[in-house]
Amino acid sequence: MLYPSQRKPVRETPNLALLASSFAPHQEVKINTLTQDYYQIKKDLLRAIAHNEFEVYYQPQVCTKTQTVTSVEALVRWRKPEIGLIFPQDFIPVAEDLGLISQIDELVLNKACHYIKGLQKTGLYLSIAVNLSAETFYQPTLVKTIKSALENSQLEPEYLELELTETMILNNSQQVLKTMKELKLLGIKLSLDDFGTGYSGLLYLQQFPWDTVKIDRYFIHDLSKFAKNRVILNAIISLARNLDLDIVAEGIEEECDLHFLINNNCHRSQGYLFSPPVIADNLIETIHKINYQLASFFHTKVAA
Ligand code: C2E
Ligand code: CA
Ligand code: CA
Repeated sequence: MLYPSQRKPVRETPNLALLASSFAPHQEVKINTLTQDYYQIKKDLLRAIAHNEFEVYYQPQVCTKTQTVTSVEALVRWRKPEIGLIFPQDFIPVAEDLGLISQIDELVLNKACHYIKGLQKTGLYLSIAVNLSAETFYQPTLVKTIKSALENSQLEPEYLELELTETMILNNSQQVLKTMKELKLLGIKLSLDDFGTGYSGLLYLQQFPWDTVKIDRYFIHDLSKFAKNRVILNAIISLARNLDLDIVAEGIEEECDLHFLINNNCHRSQGYLFSPPVIADNLIETIHKINYQLASFFHTKVAA
């Protein structure tokens, strides 16, 4: 058995009375195991790339200053014909081992840029955050790939944010810095994902040209119960603020955690509290619901 899923079941309804009632149940079919052997998986992944079996899901990010959804993160799923929907953790590590992940990342990037540009034509202007694996980041053609994705979709670069993790920086920081500077010259944004879970986050915050820091959900949960989490979170927020970085808190599931973040100057939030990742066809409706509920949430807050 290869790569059994450790995923905890996604909660059917976000844990917020305010928003939860309005969401349709999470549509994804949970795949616990992939029982095929290595060569079969490789064959399947190659076929999946050739036949474009990957779907991009979008998870809204809320700006609590404007009280609206301002951006989304693109999260890939594999719709394998014989099985159904497979989550990233069940195939990304295999795709990385097999050297196939950069092809998948490129598919996601192109699809996401086209989709976001299409939304602009309906009057909805969102930023899109796209995840890159280390292998993709180290491709000598990376800058060209990003440039082509922007040109082909006609998406303005300021709407694209690439999410990188510090583990991909560990090996060759000079090369990484050079690539990051080239990417920044395109006009796109760079985000440090999973902040706080790596080895030497503080050093990497200061040495590289980040626009955004995404605080890992490990630090977000149960803020009302754990004073130490609150202290760490406040320290990260003030550090990032002083370095003039944008901050996104991810994995927000509880309304009380959202209150804490708002009161402590963290204004971009993402998590099941607002919505799980949704298919493209459901995104506009999901955003309208979130925006509507945010309006009443802030109205109540002000009135209280
Ligand atoms: P990530 O980049 O840290 O993405 C956040 C993950 O947390 C997503 O899982 C998302 O569905 C989940 N999440 C969001 N809100 C909540 C919440 O409130 N509570 C909890 N418990 N989880 C939440 P997902 O979609 O399964 O993706 C897992 C990881 O797979 C991502 O973690 C990212 O590292 C990787 N990934 C996803 N799409 C891509 C891609 O296109 N390319 C690459 N290279 N990696 C990807
Ligand atoms: Ca991410
Ligand atoms: Ca993350």
